[in-house]
Amino acid sequence: MADSVTDRFLRYVVIDTQSDAKSPTQPSTEKQKNLGRLLAEELLAIGVTDAHLDEHGYVYGTIPATTSKNNVPVICFTAHMDTAPDFSGTGVKPQVVKNYQGGDIQLVGDRSQVIRVSEHPVLKDLVGHDIVTSDGTTLLGADDKAGIAEIMSAAEFLINNPDIKHGAIRILFTTDEEIGRGVDKVDLKKLGADFGYTMDGETAGTIEDETFSADAVEIAIKGVAMHPGFAYGKMENAIRIAGAIIDRLPKDQAPETTRGRDGFIHPTGISGVMEKSNLSFIVRDFTEEGLKTKEALLEKITREVMAGYPGSSYTFTVKEQYRNMKVVLDRHPEIVEYAVEAIRRAGMEPVRGSIRGGTDGSRLSFMGLPCPNIFAGGHAFHSPLEFVSSQDMEKAVKTIVELARLWEERA
Ligand SMILES: [Zn+2]
Repeated sequence: MADSVTDRFLRYVVIDTQSDAKSPTQPSTEKQKNLGRLLAEELLAIGVTDAHLDEHGYVYGTIPATTSKNNVPVICFTAHMDTAPDFSGTGVKPQVVKNYQGGDIQLVGDRSQVIRVSEHPVLKDLVGHDIVTSDGTTLLGADDKAGIAEIMSAAEFLINNPDIKHGAIRILFTTDEEIGRGVDKVDLKKLGADFGYTMDGETAGTIEDETFSADAVEIAIKGVAMHPGFAYGKMENAIRIAGAIIDRLPKDQAPETTRGRDGFIHPTGISGVMEKSNLSFIVRDFTEEGLKTKEALLEKITREVMAGYPGSSYTFTVKEQYRNMKVVLDRHPEIVEYAVEAIRRAGMEPVRGSIRGGTDGSRLSFMGLPCPNIFAGGHAFHSPLEFVSSQDMEKAVKTIVELARLWEERA
């Protein structure tokens, strides 16, 4: 009998795969390959004959086509093996709350850690589910080992049920997503897919086809420095200038005052002495226009503040970080439409969402592999309160299978 998706998940989360932003290597931590090796072996065992781990720690494999049609696109399903550096992933002891009956869930390894319904209202939809948590002393790693387990289970199911018609399906497991380097070494030519789906979202039924568009801004200020005893009417302190700029930032365009589809201007760094100071910002919005408007506002504030300091000067540098993948996905609307339909066929009401951040999928989309994000079922990512429902993981497996079937059907 095949392992359930939960059996797989429980096997993967105990393997420590935390990534490390300070490491220059790829993968950033060698231990990520421990999971990679296991996954490659398990793929071979279920009949994915070309499965292998490459030197960068990525796992590739192919579920061969079962259709006789020759125009079915090649789909890739992808998930990341690493866990976030934000919280320990060493010695994960997964706990299963069988047939959850509602109420707060107290974690057994650290009594101060409680998953509260008031903070995680999604729990109300999970009554009767089996819920997997950590023991409270580590994160769980549902982000994104839930996605990995789901792709593995779907692969096994499709291989064992060759009567289900589908095109060739590529599997890709990446390293270092959590430190923003997840797709640095992906070989898209070798992958040979027409488009992909990351299995890395949260609530069952959601599909995300939007990410922020993101820029970084650096403002370098040169003031007029001199002995404070002789400064009257002459000194222009670059520290005061930087402070004046920060003070004039719109309070309603900050991360802490915005949500949904509203973007923000966010100061991330400040350093300075009297003669010069530097300000770092990140700017976020869902549209290019919104991004440009915010940057224009930031420059206007800077210019106006600087007008009061005629002896000082500044430079204002914008650096592109990433772009909303919707721009790419809108050119291929069926990629998201079919995912919506697959979610419905798997028995859920589809919900379309926007990610207030970037994903591997947004980078892949601009590298030529359009790639929206489908739910994996986990919640409270990057924390000891992380949890995932077994039944929701099964729904994700079903969604993958339906999606494979749908692309063949419509070809
Ligand atoms: Zn993730």
